[in-house]
Amino acid sequence: MFLDKILSRLDKVKRTGDGQYIARCPSHDDKSPSLAITERDKKCLLHCFAGCSALDVLDSISLEMSDLFDDDDTVANDSDWKERSTARFQSQMIERAQHTLDITNNIIEAGGKLTEKEAIRANKAMKYLEERKVVGCSTWLNRRRK
Ligand SMILES: [Zn+2]
Repeated sequence: MFLDKILSRLDKVKRTGDGQYIARCPSHDDKSPSLAITERDKKCLLHCFAGCSALDVLDSISLEMSDLFDDDDTVANDSDWKERSTARFQSQMIERAQHTLDITNNIIEAGGKLTEKEAIRANKAMKYLEERKVVGCSTWLNRRRK
């Protein structure tokens, strides 16, 4: 079931009601579970009380926007709609990854040192862009190799 796919990737999942769960948010250093997961109309809604976006949360557990929808659902079977939402999700992810690399680059150019977390983030962003062969990423890499 589609919801299990999401819940199985989260920590400290607790059922709080019918189709309602709470879990540790994978996107920030979450001490007490603050991610609400609600299943409604064969859709899964994610809400982090600390303010992480659904995109951040999905990114952290390697899922995509389309994973929030039950495949048996007629809405999700509308492949056009699904494709569009995936494309939108991907362009947002690419933008975010490029932004991460820009920030990283600024830190390096200013002679600063990256924290471990920033380095991991930059590597993740770089990998993401490389996998998708996004132009602009190689520029950043070349600059870094100098
Ligand atoms: Zn969060």
